[in-house]
Amino acid sequence: MLGGMSWESTVTYYQLINQGVKDKLGGLHSAKMIIDSVDFAQIELLQRQGDWPAMANVFSEKAQQLQNTGADFLMICTNTMHKIAPEISASTNIPLLHIADATAQQLTQSGVNNVGLLGTRFTMEDGFYQARLSEEHGIDVLIPEQQERDEVHRVIYEELCLGQFLNESREAYIKVLEKLHKRGAQAVILGCTEIALLVKQEHTLIPLYDTTRIHAQAAVNLALEGHE
Ligand code: GLU
Repeated sequence: MLGGMSWESTVTYYQLINQGVKDKLGGLHSAKMIIDSVDFAQIELLQRQGDWPAMANVFSEKAQQLQNTGADFLMICTNTMHKIAPEISASTNIPLLHIADATAQQLTQSGVNNVGLLGTRFTMEDGFYQARLSEEHGIDVLIPEQQERDEVHRVIYEELCLGQFLNESREAYIKVLEKLHKRGAQAVILGCTEIALLVKQEHTLIPLYDTTRIHAQAAVNLALEGHE
């Protein structure tokens, strides 16, 4: 697992994956996993500088190390860094469990083919996430208006990744969700691994797809595939 982006959500991954394995295997069972957790300040700076090639190098090396340590498959524990998923994936021979594929599978199972997307500016605007959903899975994606995207992005980096969960930000997010719904989104993807720490299903009637939970569950299923 490539984690620490931010550690606030890597904690959730760690809990959910261990809980999922315990639920399936019982007793004292827990998940065997290796987390390479970065200093997010260094990564966030590269993001702001737009230096995706440098990040691809950093994470490709880390992915190779995880492979050498014996990992059966790889996870990038953030939506945003899937922008460089192709480069990271190409650097190893082990499968990459892609967060958008896992999410698309859930959407398709529920008959959702038009979905809203909340996430960082990179995830909402750079096209890689929408392309994966539409081209690989036939799911249409709506994103918020420019001003709303700016606010959603700001809250992620200035609050959620710092462990701050404010009522006014939750209310702002819910307004954005409702507007996406009015524009035709049947459901909304919480396409940033910290958003579900702020907005939960109990806060709205619009169906939410929490990528952290979905990705963690997909990891449990893949890890235990073929297991009795
Ligand atoms: N965890 C966030 C995501 O899922 C944002 C932090 C990052 O830039 O990786 O996109």
